Amino acid sequence: MIMDVRVEKAAKNELKPKPDEKSLGFGAFFTDHMFVMSYGNGSWNDPVIKKYQNFSLDPAAMVLHYGQAIFEGLKAYRGKDNQIYMFRPKDNLARMNKSAKRMCMPEIDVDEVFEALKTLIRLEQAWVPTQQGATLYIRPTMIATEAGLGVRPANQYLFFIIMCPVGAYYPEGFNPVKIFVTEKYVRAVPGGVGHVKTAGNYAASIMAAVEAQEAGYTQVLWLDAVKRKYIEEVGTMNIFFVIGDEIITPPISGSILPGITRDSVLRLTRDWGLNVMERRISIDEVFEASRNGSLREVFGTGTAAVISPVGSLNYKKEVCSVNGGETGSLAQRLFDEIQKIQYGHCQSPHDWVVKL
Ligand SMILES: *Cc1c(COP(=O)(O)O)cnc(C)c1O
Repeated sequence: MIMDVRVEKAAKNELKPKPDEKSLGFGAFFTDHMFVMSYGNGSWNDPVIKKYQNFSLDPAAMVLHYGQAIFEGLKAYRGKDNQIYMFRPKDNLARMNKSAKRMCMPEIDVDEVFEALKTLIRLEQAWVPTQQGATLYIRPTMIATEAGLGVRPANQYLFFIIMCPVGAYYPEGFNPVKIFVTEKYVRAVPGGVGHVKTAGNYAASIMAAVEAQEAGYTQVLWLDAVKRKYIEEVGTMNIFFVIGDEIITPPISGSILPGITRDSVLRLTRDWGLNVMERRISIDEVFEASRNGSLREVFGTGTAAVISPVGSLNYKKEVCSVNGGETGSLAQRLFDEIQKIQYGHCQSPHDWVVKL
């Protein structure tokens, strides 16, 4: 059964002017409408697409105190044919349900929410950018709204989807970044919530990112919390290494976010017959590979950047340069191929693409 989503369109004079596509940035402008539904008495109620607007929340709303908040991030892409495409959207909604389970929050019906999302995007299609590399970023979110200060699962929630046109991630080209390997901070612990997209993970990561940026680095590389030895992620991206003829990414251990871009890179490189493996890799192995000349590439993967090449790593005051600070050939090939798929410029493998 597909739920009955009420559509309350904003009046013409309430529509916002569209921002200049050259200065979109990330998450600065929001579209005219949003999708909202509320949870209470054991079910999701009153699904509606309405004007983008403020919420009214009780100051005791449980999300504000104990952080039951989860989110997703996905995109809509405008192809050369002017059609709108989405990349593995149901995988994002299914992952949101995994996050909901871990945070003792209610699950959503993936098919129904996907239908509502398509309705929302069609209504907002003029907001899907046309410039190369620019996209419409989609942020499904769920928060606990019940008023109360007991530490327990809330009984009331709000689910909403907001959307923002975002600029190309690489307006000046595909340039490798400088990474700081932190020994001081960890992102996630075994048994914790590192594998789910819950708000607190990002709050906890900000200090490390700020300190790295103050020292002149773009992002932090996270090591495991127990041994401070095995590589987990880079910033808010998964990470891959090319050492000799092996492509290596850390396994989904419970403290790593199971990225959809990560999974897509694994599937594509396997399709291409490359030697790719999910295994633990220590920071010492990476520096050793750099010293003996076998470290060929390092790159991050995530929806925002697709592929983010790493040019150098700083660990314990030692710097290892990767591929002379240049983008490697595998990073470039993956970036080009995944973008072609996402924008509908080629036939998608594995039924990844949905045309609106
Ligand atoms: C969202 C996210 C990723 C990347 O996931 P994608 O599905 O590829 O966008 C990786 N790590 C963290 C911590 C994340 O929040």
